[in-house]
Amino acid sequence: MIDLHLHTTASDGRLSPADLVARVAAAGITTMSVTDHDTVAGLAVAGAAASAAGIRLVPGIEITSVADRRDVHMLGYFFDPGSAPLLAFLEEQRAQRVARVREIGARLVRLGMPIDVDAIVDAGASRPGSSIGRPQVARALVAAGHVASVQEAFERWLATGLPAFVPRTGSSPAAVVDVIHDAGGVASMAHPGVTKRDDLIRPLADHGLDAIELHHSDHSPDDERHYRGLAGRLGLLVSGGSDFHGDPAASLMPAPPAPPSSRARRNALGLVSLPADAFAALEARAAGRPRPA
Ligand code: AMP
Ligand code: MN
Ligand code: MN
Ligand code: MN
Repeated sequence: MIDLHLHTTASDGRLSPADLVARVAAAGITTMSVTDHDTVAGLAVAGAAASAAGIRLVPGIEITSVADRRDVHMLGYFFDPGSAPLLAFLEEQRAQRVARVREIGARLVRLGMPIDVDAIVDAGASRPGSSIGRPQVARALVAAGHVASVQEAFERWLATGLPAFVPRTGSSPAAVVDVIHDAGGVASMAHPGVTKRDDLIRPLADHGLDAIELHHSDHSPDDERHYRGLAGRLGLLVSGGSDFHGDPAASLMPAPPAPPSSRARRNALGLVSLPADAFAALEARAAGRPRPA
């Protein structure tokens, strides 16, 4: 099994890179990528743990770009994690994340729901190169008793357009494709069925986008049919993975025989997998790319 979309404590995942690899191994996954938000800080430890476990780890990342003031997540694979321009770009992304979390914290004060923003920032700072974001804010809102769950924090306060939402500024999806290419990688638009910006895909394909994420926990069978067709028409490759964040799964698993919900798939490993031929095509595309200077 192949899972190319996984998060660790280097961003908003709940498992350390080593613990993630242990869970991945237990799930029977043999090729994985760690795709933390705007950071490669988890890759070294994950890579060591993966090779000890006989698992192949592909360098990965999920970069937040911005189109029309909305977030568009872009995945990168097979790039050089030591690329200096990439690392400088990511450092700026993370600095913007810290500023945004502080601004969200100020809004929450005005909304009568203060949280300990310094604790979030300090926890991030204690892990060099790690990134912070809204999930940590959501967990703090739960811990402070302002909401009952992370889900409620997003659905009432943090999601796009809600009272504690702070719009982001940042690079366009096309600029992020360039950043990934310049580091020697291949670029895939993450979970297009969640992002719902199909209008961007053709121009991005013309710009050199390599793939779209076809297999994803939040994609329905209809989404898969739709994006498989779109990828075929535009000559795009496909990527896929669970988007596992290590969130507690037990209470979310539906009782059989219900098909697993998107939440259950996100919170379990081994339910979403990229076919080997699709992986091989991504790898071949990367191999054909000039290595960065
Ligand atoms: P940020 O990186 O600060 O923009 O936060 C985005 C992250 O929040 C995503 O990568 C998800 O992990 C998480 N997220 C987004 N929407 C939701 C939601 N409705 N419920 C739970 N987590 C969410
Ligand atoms: Mn996330
Ligand atoms: Mn995403
Ligand atoms: Mn993700």
